[in-house]
Amino acid sequence: MYQDSVGHWYCSFVVPTRVRPLPETGRVLGVDWGVRQTATTTSSAHDLPHAEHGRKAQARLTRYDRMMARRRPRKGQAASKGYHEAKKWRAKTYAKIARQRRDTGRKWAKKAVTDHDAIAVEDFRPKFLARSSMARKAADAAIGATKKALIEMGRKHGRDIRLVHPAHTTMDCASCGARTKHALPLSERTYTCTACGAVSPRDKNSARVMLVRAGLNPAGAEGVRPPGAPLPEAA
Ligand SMILES: [Zn+2]
Repeated sequence: MYQDSVGHWYCSFVVPTRVRPLPETGRVLGVDWGVRQTATTTSSAHDLPHAEHGRKAQARLTRYDRMMARRRPRKGQAASKGYHEAKKWRAKTYAKIARQRRDTGRKWAKKAVTDHDAIAVEDFRPKFLARSSMARKAADAAIGATKKALIEMGRKHGRDIRLVHPAHTTMDCASCGARTKHALPLSERTYTCTACGAVSPRDKNSARVMLVRAGLNPAGAEGVRPPGAPLPEAA
């Protein structure tokens, strides 16, 4: 028990979940979230392609939405059996997609956490704007599920998970820290630093910026190339 400056008493509780520590690896990981690839990391073995769960399921969701719209009851009338059915199918499909996302996120998080002592990750907060596309919404939901899984898995195994503010992470050079004057257009997949000459795939640069921002030593990560070295084949 302790008392704060205004005289309120507080209790602190021990979190009941037991931490199951994993062997130290001496390695760190930087993670950048994205649409084409859910996670682009400083290690090529830990990138997570967008699973597109339910591309088919997404199409089904749209179909049920339309069915519900068509079967929507008029004002003052009870909803039809068909409407309730469409609503039930929609909820089922939605739950299935969410479950698949969680499973994929957990599998990936387990591997990332097992292979690294500390992980710097973009603190991405999906907005789910009404005007964003279905693909964007699906990608954001995948990122949300994966980030949550990573934080939980890190806590469970006593790993150091550091959340990094996402501002300017695509504009900074991971090698020298210089910031470009303008944000790179999304179509530009390569980051070229005008200050130090470093060239790297855009998302890989961002993943490495996460490490630097989180105060982790990039020497503990792979995928680090000296400026001027040839660009690896784009994945
Ligand atoms: Zn640079």
